[in-house]
Amino acid sequence: MSDELRTDELAATALVTDDDLSLRPKRLTEFIGQEDIKSNLSVFLRAAQQRNEPLDHLLLYGPPGLGKTTLAHIVGNEMEAPVHVTSGPAIERPGDLVGILTNLEEGAVLFVDEIHRLSRSVEEILYPAMEDRKVDIMIGKGPAARSIRLDVSPFTVVGATTRQGLLTGPLRDRFGIILNFDFYDDNALFEIICRSARILGFEISESGGQEIARRSRGTPRIANRLLRRVRDFAQVEELTVIDNRIADHALNSLGIDGEGLDRLDRAFLETIIKKYDGGPVGLETISASLGEDSGTLEDVCEPYLLQRGFIARTPRGRTATQRCYDHLGITKSS
Ligand code: ADP
Repeated sequence: MSDELRTDELAATALVTDDDLSLRPKRLTEFIGQEDIKSNLSVFLRAAQQRNEPLDHLLLYGPPGLGKTTLAHIVGNEMEAPVHVTSGPAIERPGDLVGILTNLEEGAVLFVDEIHRLSRSVEEILYPAMEDRKVDIMIGKGPAARSIRLDVSPFTVVGATTRQGLLTGPLRDRFGIILNFDFYDDNALFEIICRSARILGFEISESGGQEIARRSRGTPRIANRLLRRVRDFAQVEELTVIDNRIADHALNSLGIDGEGLDRLDRAFLETIIKKYDGGPVGLETISASLGEDSGTLEDVCEPYLLQRGFIARTPRGRTATQRCYDHLGITKSS
């Protein structure tokens, strides 16, 4: 498959802008942070290249915006293999997947985003393809029906998921490599911001970069988004360099607080404290109170709030921690 076609496919997936394409690192050495993932993956890539085999099937797990799609494309680039992009909800019928699998070139990477959302009947086509490089298709109906086996070229599935727990056991078991993404630390985000500013062609001071890094929720996608918005503020003020004053002003205007929490994060925390007395309260209840989809809260808000110790998860629901009260400036009623 040509690069042009790959780019088209990528652009067709939701929320991918031209800037995203230019900012995405293309090789493993350009991928910043996630040191454990990089060092393990580089060994697996080298070993597969030496054996002249495709990489084993790879499952990438972590919250949105941490670089799963980027890494899938890097695997393709490092293996010099074409990358085909699809997602769990996009493959509606088993026949759709059969079509994709039987058209794969030798060594191709099949990137399946939101792989936990594959239907059971589609998953059943994927199992033998991943394990034995075969797909079984039924021809005809009733007593005359017969099954034929088709060969699939050697290939690599790169699955991405925000919810490892929703993956069925048999599907998870078919991945030889499972990599967990952590939120990025401020140093890695700072590097990502400096790299993006360089690519987008503007100057940023060290303190400006650090200010954005600190308030990016540990997430490269957010760092890049905030950087672009700060650039807008700087441009309107006719500044040639983004410094921490303009970064702070822009981020405050966008409702991003000193810990990087946005309005939804704070609404989530305030709901637990003000409506449910600090919890424990179930996610569905919080979702109904906020009028926000519970999946979004679970995928987008919760992981970071948990990681930063603003909430705790208990068997009876979510509770606000002392840190949460302190951050919001609310006194705990005894
Ligand atoms: P996910 O698939 O996990 O939602 P993406 O791979 O789409 O996340 O990453 C979002 C954006 O963040 C990408 O466009 C890329 O520019 C940037 N990005 C992600 N990880 C890194 C990284 N390690 N180094 C530099 N930029 C990154």
